[in-house]
Amino acid sequence: MPFKYAEHWRADAELENPNQPGITVFMTQKAYIRANVHAQSDLNNEIGGWLIGSWREDQTTGEEFIIVERALPALYAKRGSAYITFTQDSQLAMFDIMEEKFPDKVLVGWYHTHPKMSVFLSSFDLFLHNSFFPHPWQVALVIEPHGHTAGFFIRDVDGILDNRAYYGFHELTGGKYLSVVRWKNMTYQEPGEQGEMDYENE
Ligand SMILES: [Zn+2]
Repeated sequence: MPFKYAEHWRADAELENPNQPGITVFMTQKAYIRANVHAQSDLNNEIGGWLIGSWREDQTTGEEFIIVERALPALYAKRGSAYITFTQDSQLAMFDIMEEKFPDKVLVGWYHTHPKMSVFLSSFDLFLHNSFFPHPWQVALVIEPHGHTAGFFIRDVDGILDNRAYYGFHELTGGKYLSVVRWKNMTYQEPGEQGEMDYENE
């Protein structure tokens, strides 16, 4: 896993999560910025889109991880103040774009906003997630654009998804760029605090 090219942002609420996420999430700065700029573009309605990138397995440990490389706003998503859904047209448009521009990438999940709500998955969000993103390694990112909070919803090793328990991620800085993360409910994790240095030293 590319820990040494990334900075770990742990969601403050993570400490209370009883379950271990089944995968580790890495996200490029480009994808982070795109998703956040989109999230800020409408502060009254839920908006969202797709996360594309790659799904991999660490050759040493066998642990799975995804790299969110791009955030693709869903231009045709039906939306309202408290729900979002993806229309068939928007799904088709997304697959067209993926085929054309990112043929070697996979759909690693989706993101959407919860203006003036907390970071969680509603029962409808869960329905969408399980219908359109059924792979155990696919994730849902929820962003609250007013308070600048967010979280990744990740299935645990048994494939169970807790709609209240979310996680932070690893920001891919290439080991050289300054962090662009501004989410206020996440804390930068010094390398080694969670055994990452031990892993590096092996
Ligand atoms: Zn939602």
